[in-house]
Amino acid sequence: MMHNDDKPWANKQILSPFPEVPVTLEHDNHVLIIGAGISGLASAWFLQQQGFVVTVLEAGNQVGGNLQSVQKHGCQWERGPNSFINNRPAMAQLIEQVGLKPHIVLANKAAHRRYIGKKGAMLALPSNIKEALTTGVLSTFGKLRLLIEPFVGKATSEESIAEHVRRRLGHEMLDWLIDPFISGVFAGDPEKLSVRAAVPKIYALESEYGSMIIGGVAKMKAKSRQKKLEKEQGISSLDGAMMSFAGGLYQLPATLAQKLGPAISLNTQVDNITYSAQFGYQAMSGDQIWQASQVVLAVPAAQVARLIDDLVPTDEALLMQAKACLQAIDYPAVASITMAFNKDQIEHALDGFGCLLPTKEGKQTLGVLFPSSIFSQRCPDDQHLITVFIGGGRGQHAMTLTPQQRTDLVMLELSPYLGIQGQPLWHEESLWPKAIPQYQLGHLPKVALIDEALAQFPGLHLRSNWRDGVAVGDCVENALQLANMMSQKLVKAQTKTETIT
Ligand SMILES: Cc1cc2nc3c(=O)[nH]c(=O)nc-3n(C[C@H](O)[C@H](O)[C@H](O)COP(=O)(O)OP(=O)(O)OC[C@H]3O[C@@H](n4cnc5c(N)ncnc54)[C@H](O)[C@@H]3O)c2cc1C
Repeated sequence: MMHNDDKPWANKQILSPFPEVPVTLEHDNHVLIIGAGISGLASAWFLQQQGFVVTVLEAGNQVGGNLQSVQKHGCQWERGPNSFINNRPAMAQLIEQVGLKPHIVLANKAAHRRYIGKKGAMLALPSNIKEALTTGVLSTFGKLRLLIEPFVGKATSEESIAEHVRRRLGHEMLDWLIDPFISGVFAGDPEKLSVRAAVPKIYALESEYGSMIIGGVAKMKAKSRQKKLEKEQGISSLDGAMMSFAGGLYQLPATLAQKLGPAISLNTQVDNITYSAQFGYQAMSGDQIWQASQVVLAVPAAQVARLIDDLVPTDEALLMQAKACLQAIDYPAVASITMAFNKDQIEHALDGFGCLLPTKEGKQTLGVLFPSSIFSQRCPDDQHLITVFIGGGRGQHAMTLTPQQRTDLVMLELSPYLGIQGQPLWHEESLWPKAIPQYQLGHLPKVALIDEALAQFPGLHLRSNWRDGVAVGDCVENALQLANMMSQKLVKAQTKTETIT
C-alpha cells in the first residue's frame, strides 16, 4: 500500500471545478462519480437536481454500462437488460424529470405469459389460483404439498433460496418454478444464493405474514384493490408495468448523458483514489487528477477493492477484510445470443415473455426471451427475434466454447422446445465475462462489514448493483436514496457552519 505522500503529483493535471482552491470538506458540494452505468448516471442526475456539482468519470467510450441497445439487420434488440418493471418510485421520477415519458413503450399483453421447459416441451406458468390447480407444471403431490405451507414455521438461521423454498413449498416448486426464475434474474444457483439478500420480497412474506401463500394472496388482493380504485378515479397508472423506450433501454443513459453534458468524461478509467484532509478525494486517471470532497464508487465490486487500495485507513485490518469481501463477490460469465428467424421456421407462436429452462432439464441454456413478442416493431412483421442466455451459475462449461459452438449448442438445446427448423437468418453474441453479481449466503454481513470499513473515509459512497438489488429499477432507487441522504448531510453541515460564523 502506498501513502498519499509517496505519489508523484508534480506532473499531473488537477481537474476540479475549483482547481486553485483546496477543497473544504464539510460544505463543498462537488461530487466525483466513478462509473457511468445506470447506478452512476442516476446518482449524478439526482445529486445535480439537489444542487451538487457532479463529475462522472467513465472508463468506456460510451455511457450506460450494461444497458446497450442495438439497431441492426432491420431489427432492434438489447445486449444486456431487455426491459424493466416500473415498481420503484425513483424510476418514474427519473423518467418524468428527463422527459422520457412520451418515449415509453409498454410490453404487449401476451408478454405476461411466461413459459418453462419441462421434459422437452414448453408449459405456460399458472397466472392465477385456478390455473395453478390444473397446471401440468406441478404433479398432484406437488400441488397438495402447497396446502401445508401456511403451517410451516419460520427459519431460525440464514437460508439459501433453495433451502427456503424446499422447506416451505416443497421441492417441485423449487425445481420447476423458483429455480428457473432465479436463472432468469441472476443467472444464478438457488442453492448458493441467500434468500434474504437476493429476493428480499420473497423472504419478507415469511417474516411479515408467516406464510408465502398467505402473504402472496394478501399482496395480490391489495394490488387489485389499488388498481380498481385507480380505475374508478380515472387514473391510468403504469405502476408495475413492464416497459422499455422506443429507442431501447439505452435511451435512458443516452438522455441522462445528454442532460449531464460536459459533467461526463468518457475514456477515463480511474486507476486509484486517495484521500487527504486538505484536498479531499483525488481520483487518478493516467496523468490527470480529479478532486472533490465526496466520491461515489458506482463500479463492480472488484473495481471498488482496486480503487480503494491507496486509501490510508485507521483500521487497516478491517479494510483488508472489506477488500477480501469485495473480491469474493462472484460474477459468473453469461453470453446473450440474439437470433432472427422467419416466422414459418418456428412452430411455437412465441406468444409470451420467454421460456426458462429449469436445472432439472439438464441444459447449459438458461432460457430464451421473445423480444419481438414482448415489444412491437422490434423486427420485420414476418420474423421472430429471440435472445438466448447461456452460462451463469450452472452453464460455465458453455463459456469454454467458441461463440459459434455456443450458438450451435443453443440451437440444439432449444429446438425441441420451440420447434425450430433450419438456421437463423442472422445471429449475434454479446459476451458478459462478469455478468451479474451473486448475492450468496453471507452477502448481507459482508456488505455490512464493507460499509463499516469504508465509514473510515468521510464522503466515500458506494452505489452499484452488487448491493441492494440487481434490477435496473433497484439501481435507480438506490441512487435517489443516496442523493437524498447526501443532501440532508450537506444542509446540516452548512447550517452548522452558518451558526458558527
Ligand atoms: C445480460 C444481462 C441481462 C440483464 N437483464 C436485466 C433485465 O432484463 N432487467 C433488469 O432490471 N436488469 C437486468 N440486468 C441487470 C442490470 O442490467 C444491472 O444490474 C445494472 O445495469 C447495473 O448497473 P450499474 O451501473 O450498477 O453497473 P454497470 O452497468 O456494470 O456500470 C458500471 C460502469 O462503471 C464503469 N467502470 C468500471 N470500472 C471503472 C473505473 N475504474 N473507472 C471508471 N469507470 C469504471 C464501467 O465501464 C461501467 O460503465 C441484466 C444484466 C445483464 C448483464
